[in-house]
Amino acid sequence: MRINGKEHLACVTEVLELGTDVVTVEPLSNIPLISDLVVDMDAFFAKYNQAGMPYIRESEFLPMAETPEGIASHTRYENCIECGICVSACPIAGSDPDYLGPAAMAAAWRVVAEPRGEDPALRLDWVDNEHGCWRCHVAFECTEVCPSSVEPGESIMALRRELTKRKLRRLFGLAK
Ligand code: SF4
Ligand code: SF4
Repeated sequence: MRINGKEHLACVTEVLELGTDVVTVEPLSNIPLISDLVVDMDAFFAKYNQAGMPYIRESEFLPMAETPEGIASHTRYENCIECGICVSACPIAGSDPDYLGPAAMAAAWRVVAEPRGEDPALRLDWVDNEHGCWRCHVAFECTEVCPSSVEPGESIMALRRELTKRKLRRLFGLAK
């Protein structure tokens, strides 16, 4: 949520530490509002799925935990807790509804960095456009608010570097 105008995890934010007499709590920005403080995360998760989201920490599976009917198991992207606050803090996500966004591109970078059987070229293709990594304005608001040290801004820069290297390799006929 946005607390006193800045993105925080509401569940671990201590009111007294905010140091203000009045505490303002608002829903996340740049994500469609359903009601009150509830936002619609469907588009956020859809972009995750496009990124691949392949890294599930085996140790985090809890066999004793029941899953809702129709869901075989819960999955989770490595490190990212899917809170969406990086998207809320991102000014480009606010101005371009098709922007892939910091969380999904951080997920794409994980695939490129450690493919583990996935195809990194597909993820590079996915981010190589005006709504992908080239749209980022490099101010790293996303990294500043991320509570899980995913560093999405740095991941986007890593994608740019990888794409630049790929373009140079192709230019000089060195590789795909
Ligand atoms: S660095 Fe890029 S992704 Fe992160 S908040 Fe800024 S525009 Fe958004
Ligand atoms: S990258 Fe960080 S801020 Fe963004 S959804 Fe994941 S944990 Fe939350």
